[in-house]
Amino acid sequence: MSSRTVERSRFGIYGGRFVPESLIPACEDVERAFTEAWHDPVFRDRLAEILSVYAGRPTPLTPALRLSAELGVTLLLKREDLAHTGSHKINNVLGQALLAQRMGKARLIAETGAGSHGVATATAGALLGMATTVFMGERDIERQQLNVFRMRTLGAEVIPVSTGSRTLKDACTEALRHWVTAVDDSHYCLGSVMGPHPYPWMVREFQRVIGDEARSQVTAVPDYVVACVGGGSNAAGTFAGFLDTSARLIGVEAEGGAAVTAGSDGILHGFRTRVLQDADGQIAEAHSIAPGLDYPGVGPEHAHFASTGQARYVTVGDTDVVAAVHRLARTEGIICALESAHAVAWLINAAASGEVPAGATVLLTLSGRGDKDMATLMELA
Ligand SMILES: *Cc1c(COP(=O)(O)O)cnc(C)c1O
Repeated sequence: MSSRTVERSRFGIYGGRFVPESLIPACEDVERAFTEAWHDPVFRDRLAEILSVYAGRPTPLTPALRLSAELGVTLLLKREDLAHTGSHKINNVLGQALLAQRMGKARLIAETGAGSHGVATATAGALLGMATTVFMGERDIERQQLNVFRMRTLGAEVIPVSTGSRTLKDACTEALRHWVTAVDDSHYCLGSVMGPHPYPWMVREFQRVIGDEARSQVTAVPDYVVACVGGGSNAAGTFAGFLDTSARLIGVEAEGGAAVTAGSDGILHGFRTRVLQDADGQIAEAHSIAPGLDYPGVGPEHAHFASTGQARYVTVGDTDVVAAVHRLARTEGIICALESAHAVAWLINAAASGEVPAGATVLLTLSGRGDKDMATLMELA
């Protein structure tokens, strides 16, 4: 076993497993099953095969020639927007769905905010013939009707959550609650590097394919490796391929959902991390134009990287993000997701200010494509 895949339940003081007693055995089962599977070449080969023949991996590394020339840098785009279902989320759900099957589970449970993770889970469920139940806040259901219809088209059941702010954080709470009652036949397919151990570690391992591929696709170690951070899975997977290099790792948060940059230590959804909260520990609501970054917490590994300085975390506001979508579209012919555009916007600003010096090489993960955001952009046009 390589040191890079050492099992661990904590990232410094962050992570852990703060769940009701009734969920401990379920988390332990997932941990045991994943540890075995991840060391089993048969499982690894099967996942690699599905990622290749079904999900479209490896995704290309595209030199962004015209934007590079404008910014005075060499920009390389890791194209998760070209993966099946339009984002990196498929890497994680296919891994977890195969694991669930191996554990003898017949059903997948998932939470979703904007619906991307729900659609990805419904996709994996359909592919492997597993029933899929997705918990989604009532407010998100109203705002994301197209994704609700996608999930139902794929055969999934979508259950509205009417508690709290009726958004993602309530859907997470409800999915965990439901898992307690259904653990015999169900696997909880969590959507990012969050939740109780082993999820932050397991999801990072399923997403490290982004970073490992990119590492083999670059001809030299880039000066900067940049990715947007919601829960932090596309960034964690990207960073995993470059942790042992001199590349500067930059995680870009939404200004209104900056748990690393503006949060404080707390416990949310079963793990210790940095959280947006008030003085009484009441969880604050995150606000971002990018639905995937609209979460008040962040994966524990990022909280840890921020505290050690292994990665740096920065924020970008909605206005710059929208401008970045248009700039990338017009220079490269790629309409990226609003989430991914946070990374692009940071680079545009940092190149202009000289923070990223002329001539630098930048690897930037485009976590997803922007089709889902067209209605939002049309309203602003
Ligand atoms: C869900 C999503 C994100 C945020 O999730 P992470 O776990 O931070 O990667 C980012 N980009 C896209 C396109 C997404 O769908």
